[in-house]
Amino acid sequence: MAAPAAGPVPPVPVLRIVAECGRSRARAGELRLPHGSVPCPVFMPVGTRGTAKGLTAAQLAALGCRICLGNTFHLGTRPVSGTGGLRGALGLTLSRPCPELPNPGGDRSCRGFPAGFRRSPRRYRGVTGGSRSVPGLGGPQIWGGAMTQRDVPGFAIGGLSGGEAKAQFWRTVKLSTEQLPRDKPRYLMGVGYATDLVVCVALGCDMFDCVFPTRTARFGSALVPWGSLQLKNQQFAKDFRPIDADCGCPTCQRYSRAYLHALLRSNTAALHLLTLHNIAYQMKLMGSIRDSIVQQRFPEFVREFMDTMYGGRGGPPAWAREALESVGITLA
Ligand SMILES: [Zn+2]
Repeated sequence: MAAPAAGPVPPVPVLRIVAECGRSRARAGELRLPHGSVPCPVFMPVGTRGTAKGLTAAQLAALGCRICLGNTFHLGTRPVSGTGGLRGALGLTLSRPCPELPNPGGDRSCRGFPAGFRRSPRRYRGVTGGSRSVPGLGGPQIWGGAMTQRDVPGFAIGGLSGGEAKAQFWRTVKLSTEQLPRDKPRYLMGVGYATDLVVCVALGCDMFDCVFPTRTARFGSALVPWGSLQLKNQQFAKDFRPIDADCGCPTCQRYSRAYLHALLRSNTAALHLLTLHNIAYQMKLMGSIRDSIVQQRFPEFVREFMDTMYGGRGGPPAWAREALESVGITLA
């Protein structure tokens, strides 16, 4: 008897879920991409030309960075000459095989990872499908429907983090993740503040990108678990402690706040050293988030994070408290 004809081989899912929080929507997983696997939730430094501003690809790799975000709009307007477009540019710039996710660059849709939901000036909407009104958002609508039925590797939530009220921000993220399929990665574009990352992981997002950690480094700001240090300020002139004694990055291992304060006045190497630390901070934060989900202690992690970040500043902001309570995590 002849063997039955082989049918089409089903595609391997991009996302393998490793663990889910028993209370919130947080999940830990693994993104299986053509150039390697990436643990998630993950923060992707913006590295349109193959690495983040101020760092080499090798330095990013040494910090544990497994994926960069490439802005397709910027690559289109400022291509690397002689490389043959997006794929060639990234292939030339990277010194190692490294997953790189091209993003829409604002409100443009992206072939591989289409924007699931994006914002128009007057309302939030998806590409197609039915609509739902969002209580408390003053009239905007989320459009999902057929969009979520598309056979795509994952979905991006775009158009947020553009100056809207935080109450709108988190409710829109939550409504988006509610409509997106469980088994596909959810990429929240342009989000990189530590508090936003923690809250949006709780709301069910897997991937993030933002220029914030590298940009703020170039202004002399170092990210720490209790906020940030403005190292240009005079108060650090004689502060011989590292930026963060618990940080294992090369900057914290070798240099003091006082040294960096002095260097910031005269030498751009200081900006490089701060960028190194800030990316290390983001990587460590996401690693801690992921570990806590795997170990089924994410709600405890969130409470500890908020206590460290806001304990000396009157407690977490109301929007973060409300967002977390909406998925079952109550802060003290
Ligand atoms: Zn450091």
